[in-house]
Amino acid sequence: MKILSVNAGSSSLKFTLFDMPEEKELISGVFERIGIENSFYTIKLNGEKIKKETELKDHKAAFELLVKELIDNKIVDSLDEIAGIGHRIVQGGSYFDKTVLATEDNISIVEKLSSLAPLHNPAAVVGIRAAQSVFPNATQTLVFDTAFHQTIEKDRFLYPVPYNWYTDYQVRKYGAHGTSHRYVAKKLQEELGRDDLNIISCHLGNGGSITAISCGKCVDTSMGFTPHAGIMMGTRSGDIDVSMVPYVMEKEGKSAGEIMNDLNKKSGFLGISGLSSDSRDIEDGIKEGNERCILAQKMFVNSVIKYIAQYYVLLGHVDVIAFTAGIGEKSISTRSDIIERLAPLGIEIDPEENNVRGKFKKISSKKSSVDIYVVPTNEELMIAEDTLNLIK
Ligand code: AMP
Repeated sequence: MKILSVNAGSSSLKFTLFDMPEEKELISGVFERIGIENSFYTIKLNGEKIKKETELKDHKAAFELLVKELIDNKIVDSLDEIAGIGHRIVQGGSYFDKTVLATEDNISIVEKLSSLAPLHNPAAVVGIRAAQSVFPNATQTLVFDTAFHQTIEKDRFLYPVPYNWYTDYQVRKYGAHGTSHRYVAKKLQEELGRDDLNIISCHLGNGGSITAISCGKCVDTSMGFTPHAGIMMGTRSGDIDVSMVPYVMEKEGKSAGEIMNDLNKKSGFLGISGLSSDSRDIEDGIKEGNERCILAQKMFVNSVIKYIAQYYVLLGHVDVIAFTAGIGEKSISTRSDIIERLAPLGIEIDPEENNVRGKFKKISSKKSSVDIYVVPTNEELMIAEDTLNLIK
């Protein structure tokens, strides 16, 4: 059965088509600059990447082109072979704790939640509408980044602020990267043959979050009301003292929106290094003795170990620390820098085993008190799996 995973942005549309339940990736790609000039798309097929320039007036045009590519490349004979389409949704609020069918009621809740994710939810709805019109017979589902975190208890999802901020305005922790953390937990449970694992899942990419998981359920996560909170990231600051916001607003004569833009797009690795948001560039800078890159890396590691230590205590006992996403899967030195700081907990890496990129692998030493794994994430597959389960 063919199932499409879709991630719609305001001017982009990412997709991966799977044959399920075999979990075989048939084709993937991204349409970019939808609705603006110079639009193009890239597809990955049989290990080859192809880029084509074409007009893409809206998301519907992108889906229609996708169908044409699928037929031209003999992946399907007709669009009716696509049995399901799973849509990634950033914000499900307190309404959704699992993947659901894209009914009109559910779509209207996604729309209603736009004030909590103004850049993402409206774009996702545009994607759903376009998919519905191009694939009218496919089962459409909504897969929420926040759903996995709905098991966090109230004493951990609330902020110590006036209570009516929560009751009147839904201010609380929602978290993000839930589909990735859920995938990591499920993969570890399957590979280790245990569903009672206590896991600290470290999703370290351009955005990053750390999640405490017990028996497949989320106990706490580092991102908060928005993906801004938690550890230091590529361009986001992570946790800060909010009092600096009005202070710098006044100093620089900026609006709250402009300061938020600085905190979202000009902070983190980029802000501290003054060089790049990409950890590969930071690693190169460190090798060249660049002081600001050395400082950025130290600050990143500080922020990560703060959450690992906190969740170690919260869980009481930890079976696995997992590293996933771009940095987690591929930065050998960052994993090593992080684990080195966990020595007081008896957690230890094996430098030889750690010499790995993008592969499922145990990287802890034999005497480590906690097993450490690299677990390549696959949010697209998780979306396809959820969709398959709802079709069933
Ligand atoms: P993601 O958001 O999961 O796609 O991760 C993207 C980030 O992963 C990039 O911005 C880099 O910082 C990091 N990354 C990717 N490849 C490598 C690598 N080989 N070594 C170190 N960091 C990497």
